Amino acid sequence: MLAEAEAGSARREGAAPPIIRLSGVGKTFDNGTEALRGVDLSVARGEFLSLLGPSGCGKSTILRLVSGLDVPTAGTITWSGATERVGEEQEVGFVFQEPTLMPWARVFDNVYLPLRLKGISRKAAKDGIMDALESVGLEDFAHAFPRELSGGMKMRVSIARALATDPEVLLMDEPFAALDEITRFKLNDDLLRLWAEREWTVIFVTHSVFESVYLSTRIAVMTGRPGRIDQQVFVDEPSPRSSAYRTSPQYAETARNTSAALSSAMAAR
Ligand code: ADP
Repeated sequence: MLAEAEAGSARREGAAPPIIRLSGVGKTFDNGTEALRGVDLSVARGEFLSLLGPSGCGKSTILRLVSGLDVPTAGTITWSGATERVGEEQEVGFVFQEPTLMPWARVFDNVYLPLRLKGISRKAAKDGIMDALESVGLEDFAHAFPRELSGGMKMRVSIARALATDPEVLLMDEPFAALDEITRFKLNDDLLRLWAEREWTVIFVTHSVFESVYLSTRIAVMTGRPGRIDQQVFVDEPSPRSSAYRTSPQYAETARNTSAALSSAMAAR
């Protein structure tokens, strides 16, 4: 299976130039914890890449390094194409596991926050904010407070906030882990629709084999800590994917292969 994955990698890397490349990336925290060692990963423009691995293997750390929130202690991260700088604010949107909304501010102002931080006036930002809210189906809730919203709606606000900056790359750290299954499935479909419409590059962190198979064009399977990429699984199912895919033999087979890759990565050192 690894040979097959490698052949697929060469084919795809030829098709689209990488937008982000991690070479030999390592991260050891000040307290001595070695979270990552020797991470090699290229992300092509337009990919939906999932990082799959056990808790604590360094998935969130990779997102933080890619976003520029933190710096590697070994190796390099390079951006190509239009993006010259790691973490350039307008190029990267970050969605965290918790929606991290300001409870005292209305939905509109929560979505406005990153634009306000960039010095854009409320008036100039208004149309973009309303577009972002419409994209996630919350245009009627612009004046609501977070406490009036369900967990799924709060996560939609968080996604709208990332959308408002019109990022080229969207980093998502287990954004749906705390949601019930029905809401999660709905948000999975909404995310795939937005990904297709906006032509984003997405790096999505998850520890769910099933979620990664449903969403991704490629799954990078990580070892336990110190984490590195052990295997890759390419998901050839074309878009748009729908609930019919969840019950298809192809889905079951890819999930089986991905589970096997995860077990072998967890056994690897
Ligand atoms: P994952 O997202 O795969 O669950 P993380 O990237 O959050 O893993 O963490 C990887 C490892 O690094 C864990 O052992 C975690 O405890 C450790 N870690 C993360 N951030 C810090 C930090 N700021 N200081 C020390 N250790 C950290």
